[in-house]
Order: sequence, then structure tokens, then C-alpha cells
Amino acid sequence: IKATLPVPTQPSEVHQLARSFNDLLTAINDHAQQEREFISNAAHELRTPIAAIRGHVRLIQRRGREHPEIIPRSINFIDDESTRMQKLVNSLLTLSRADRGVLALDYFDVVAVANETIEEERAVLKQPLTLVGDTAAVIHGNSESVQQILTALLDNAGKYSPADQPITIRIQQTTTAVHISVADHGLGIADVDKAHIFERFYRVDTARTRQIGGTGLGLAIVAQLVALNQATIHVADNQPQGSRFILTFPQPTTDSDKLSD
Ligand code: ADP
Repeated sequence: IKATLPVPTQPSEVHQLARSFNDLLTAINDHAQQEREFISNAAHELRTPIAAIRGHVRLIQRRGREHPEIIPRSINFIDDESTRMQKLVNSLLTLSRADRGVLALDYFDVVAVANETIEEERAVLKQPLTLVGDTAAVIHGNSESVQQILTALLDNAGKYSPADQPITIRIQQTTTAVHISVADHGLGIADVDKAHIFERFYRVDTARTRQIGGTGLGLAIVAQLVALNQATIHVADNQPQGSRFILTFPQPTTDSDKLSD
């Protein structure tokens, strides 16, 4: 959108109105620019596995009859790349749903949800998983999406830390909030990257993370879900090494709080 309103030199209500109108246009244009970048990134990410799949299909077509021994390797490649595409498309769909979404919020015990998530993740992750802190903590949110958030954070902790190092969920209730942290003893995240890891398609660019692989969408989905839960998330260093993601849910107002107002 190119239109702007001329801003009168005299401070006045019209002046303020024109200013807010121009700010709004800037915000709309920024949003449109982000959308364009997102689509271009998504297309680029899909193009790589598609090219790899087509390359192996051609190889089988050209040489498979004479050299059948190449076929199993190519099939494995196609299998891996199509799995990667499927994960990417699933993440894009989840993200687009979360973009449009509104979640039904309710009161529930997040310790019970964390326990359930840990039970499920024990079958998936190699690291020992533990839950520490309060034995019950009621939050106001959407339990299914909180489970999705914890699963994504545990999956990342599993991906980016050694198999023998424990991963810990800690739940702590204060007078104003409930804090839920997921901590690992892995690669950790440099300060320059901390500001970006929740952006769509952002991956820390080291040989190690490239080797581990991923879409760079997991934490973008987490950030959307956290916002829909009206919660916040930030990342810190774990001691002596590793990362700690901290989710904060404002403490629900109880009836006794309401009475004391
Ligand atoms: P990916 O699919 O690459 O894992 P995410 O959006 O889940 O995408 O994470 C973005 C980036 O943040 C990752 O590529 C990785 O570099 C970094 N990261 C996320 N979680 C951790 C963690 N627990 N320890 C170290 N680095 C992490």
C-alpha cells in the first residue's frame, strides 16, 4: 500500500489521526513483506527435497535396470526426503492454523499435563527425563496446546543434547505466575541467536545443527501457541551448559483474590 496522508504542521487531532493512519499503513506493509518472505522461504525449503527426489527417480530410471544394486540406496534417499517434506508441510499447516486460531482456555493442572507429556516422550527420547518442583499448579490455558508446546521443547532438548544428559521440566508457582522450564545440557544457544530462534525458518548455522537437521519452524509454532495461551516464553542458558526455555503463565485470579480487590 503506497498511500500516505499529508501530516499537517500544526499539532492537532487531524495531525494525530494522520500519524496513526500512516503507522497503520507501515504495519500493514511490514506484515505483507513478512508474508512474502515466509512464502518464499517455504517454497525454497520444499524445492530442495523435491529436487533430491527427482534426481534419484531419474537415476533409477536411467541406470536401475543395468545396476539394480543402486536401487535400495536411492529408495532410502527418497524415503528420507519425502519424510522431510511431510514434516515441513505438517508444520506449515499447524502454523497456518495457529495464525488464524483462537483457543478455548480453561483451568487445569499443568503438572498432570507435564507428567503425561514426559510419559509419551520417554518412548521417543534417549535422555533421562525428570519432572521437579511443585506437585500441582493450576494455570489458565489450553491443555492440548500446552502439551504440544512441551512436546516440541522436549523434542528440541532431545535433538540438541547428548543421549546421557538429563532433561528436566521444572514447574514453579509464585504469587503472580506459574513458570514451566525445560532444561537440557546440550549445545546451548549463543546470545546473538537467542533473539531469532522463534522466527520462522531460523536455524542456528553451525556444522553441528546442520548435521542434526530440522525445519526451523518448531519454535515459531511454539511462539504462536504460547501467544494463543496468553502466556510468554523466553530462553536462557542452563548451568553449567545447555539451554533452558521458560514458559510463564500469569497466575489465574482466584475467587479469594477477587474478594480482596
Ligand atoms: P529446528 O527444526 O531447526 O529444530 P526450531 O524452530 O525448533 O527448528 O529451532 C530453531 C533453532 O533453535 C534450531 O535450529 C537450533 O539451532 C536452536 N535450538 C532450539 N532448541 C534448542 C536447544 N534445546 N538447544 C540448542 N539449540 C536449540
